Amino acid sequence: MKIILPIIFIFILSSSGLKANNSLDLLTLYKQLHSYPELSFKEEKTSKKLASMLIDLGFEVTENFAGYGVVALLENGEGKTVMIRADMDGLPVRELTGSSYASKTKSFNQVGDEVFTMHACGHDIHMTSLIGTAINLMERKDEWRGNLLLILQPAEEVSGGARNMIKEGIFEKFPRPDFNLALHVSADLPAGKVGYVPGWAMANVDSVDITLKGVGGHGAYPHTTKDPIVMASQLINSLQTIVSREIAPIDAAVVTVGSIHGGTKHNVIPSEVRLQLTVRSYTDDVRNQIISAIRRMARGLAEANGLPKDLYPEVTLKDEYTPALFNNLDLTEKLRISFENALGEDKVLKLSPVMGGEDFGMYGRVEPIIPTVLFWLGAVNKSVYDKSLRDNISLPSLHSAFFLPDPEPTISTGIKAMTAAVLDLYKN
Ligand SMILES: [Zn+2]
Ligand SMILES: [Zn+2]
Repeated sequence: MKIILPIIFIFILSSSGLKANNSLDLLTLYKQLHSYPELSFKEEKTSKKLASMLIDLGFEVTENFAGYGVVALLENGEGKTVMIRADMDGLPVRELTGSSYASKTKSFNQVGDEVFTMHACGHDIHMTSLIGTAINLMERKDEWRGNLLLILQPAEEVSGGARNMIKEGIFEKFPRPDFNLALHVSADLPAGKVGYVPGWAMANVDSVDITLKGVGGHGAYPHTTKDPIVMASQLINSLQTIVSREIAPIDAAVVTVGSIHGGTKHNVIPSEVRLQLTVRSYTDDVRNQIISAIRRMARGLAEANGLPKDLYPEVTLKDEYTPALFNNLDLTEKLRISFENALGEDKVLKLSPVMGGEDFGMYGRVEPIIPTVLFWLGAVNKSVYDKSLRDNISLPSLHSAFFLPDPEPTISTGIKAMTAAVLDLYKN
């Protein structure tokens, strides 16, 4: 199926980024966004180009809202206000998909290192689907009344984006939404399908930094040192018992050590090792239980190794906390009906909660609570999906260097589902 686009924009890409110009279709827009990702808090060119598309479409657009955020409003008479959010940031991942439009982009991260950058979480699909939905709803203006509020959010991957948009006054400076909607690509659902999860759908996300201190020295004289590399390996194994031995088996929890750095050379015992952890949970109780267990184990390790108090480990809970995402039950049910009518019953699946996180849930936690739902958009090429089932091989996950959505059916399904959902919400 071809994505038909009656409009009007062409983007020409230069090494300096996206440049608006002529006319072209959504697939081309997607490929351009894919080829030129920008990291969290650095979505300058992406936001500028999408803002100018929305201005050309006839939206009232506010740029540079809470960083590089974009807010586009279409007031179309008396009625409900529906907010749709898409996120804009890419990830520090070197793309290995081999696609003709694979990203070769490098950018500077927050600590100034130059890193390869990739839309490995499908935010390029989200943005393209949002623009496609905007075009549809603009063309069908006669069929609905109300306010359409589109937001392009920066920095989802580091979890500052939604918080900043809320702090900056997204719900005060614009018509307050009656409903908040978003979609996210799924790396294990075939393109053409959508999935919904009523209630709790995505987990609490915490990041924890641990610095283990020791006493460095010669690798051949270990008895004169306190070796933080050995301590780090002890701690990593202990941390794995939090989920397996301390949390009740029916409660969902994850403790992953995603990074370990220490040492410079074979025969030098360093004086410090740094660990970075991601911690996932659903309830506040489990979240608190895990965090206090991490602190206790780090402290206990220092004692067991006979370290003086001033060399006890530093455990820092980063303020990047993303709360679990709750999909409003009534709104999820409304969307299910809209999706089934628009796509067919066999294309709409009820899915289970996952331990991934999404800061979109924050928009649904501001009092008075706005019904909020994020649904999954299948993105996997049908034959790749079938082969994975046949051969029992797992598909590349979100954030993988090999994650490559099948753009045409994914985007057209995203637009169809979102447009149908929004039109039905205005009718209700
Ligand atoms: Zn992501
Ligand atoms: Zn994402």
